[in-house]
Amino acid sequence: MEYIELSGGACSDCVQAISNDDYSGMSDAVEGQVRAGVTRVTERGTGVTGLVVGVEKGFSREPCAVCGGLAGDRHEVGYLREEEEEADEPEADEPDEDDLVTSDDRNFYQYGKRVLVVDEEEDRDDAIRAYMDREQFWPDAWSISDHGNAHRIDLSGK
Ligand SMILES: [Zn+2]
Repeated sequence: MEYIELSGGACSDCVQAISNDDYSGMSDAVEGQVRAGVTRVTERGTGVTGLVVGVEKGFSREPCAVCGGLAGDRHEVGYLREEEEEADEPEADEPDEDDLVTSDDRNFYQYGKRVLVVDEEEDRDDAIRAYMDREQFWPDAWSISDHGNAHRIDLSGK
């Protein structure tokens, strides 16, 4: 959760409404302004869960940050917002330098060096798996098309 303070602060009517959901003692006009202000702030963005009132700040000439009311005593006010979740990194669709890469399904390169040559009569995927088992390292393997697109080779053996 992230706390975002609203500059200007909240008037005593808004503090009463936010803290206690209490709109008593307000004229209809003021109550309408306060309700509209609370709604406006809480609908400010996704993940906004509500208003929080803080310490008293004293007199201010600025309008209330919630209802826009006239100058008066102010309390600190802000809202809580859930922090946006980091988007999951999409799975890389480009070979890393430690991956096995081929453009002819015969010659495989790793770190820019040819590390594996698959014989004509050998099954390509078996040869890759055998190589990785020998090296005790199982990176991804990629086949690069004539157009330069990398396709991950499925080595699950299915
Ligand atoms: Zn107010």
